[in-house]
Amino acid sequence: MLLATDLDGTFLAGSAADKAQLYELVRSREDIQLVFVTGRGIRSVLTLLEDPALPRPEYIICDVGATVTHLASLVAVEPVQSAIAGLWPGDEVREKLKSVKGLLHQEAQQQYRCSYYYDDATDIETARQVAESLQCDLVLSAGKYLDVLPKGVNKGNTLQQLLGVLSLPHHQVLVAGDSMNDYSMFEMGFKGVVVGDAEPELLVRTAGMPNVLQSDCIGAGGILEALNRFPEFGIYL
Ligand SMILES: [Mg+2]
Repeated sequence: MLLATDLDGTFLAGSAADKAQLYELVRSREDIQLVFVTGRGIRSVLTLLEDPALPRPEYIICDVGATVTHLASLVAVEPVQSAIAGLWPGDEVREKLKSVKGLLHQEAQQQYRCSYYYDDATDIETARQVAESLQCDLVLSAGKYLDVLPKGVNKGNTLQQLLGVLSLPHHQVLVAGDSMNDYSMFEMGFKGVVVGDAEPELLVRTAGMPNVLQSDCIGAGGILEALNRFPEFGIYL
């Protein structure tokens, strides 16, 4: 099976005991492939991986789906990456969004997307119109993150493209997340877990989806619960 998991609030969250159990499980089972799917940029993930306690994934989907990297070689996965790059308008995005009231540009290095913080004072509607005029999508998450991505590019879609490259079937995947930028993975129909302490809107949007478990257990604990609840993965704890 392949575990495709968000990091903050998901794989990195939960009790010390749950994290230790999950990380050891992922490390010891050769039949579990690990993919990180995060809003962070690659540099930030590589810094996290300096901690030997964290299992190393085979692939890292960063920038909310805008980049996908094979960790061992640090090479972008093609043709997925070039297709995304071809959709990205470039510096024009940041230039045009400068006129939008209440957007605070995030300093972190970004590729093929633009990230901002937003709050109640932000003119979201104008930001959305600017994004649309550039053939881009606007993704709001966790009540404070606003990302502009090439149209149709998101965590779920890039994961689906990666599976195509790996020739791995959809049903062997478990996805995990806690905020609205993870919604695209659940929407794609992957079996998945919304972990405890999730963004309320994600709970509302995934309620009643037959492929989705909403767990009360935070972070790693929610992923462990899902591995138990979906016997088809053959992981028995
Ligand atoms: Mg998260």
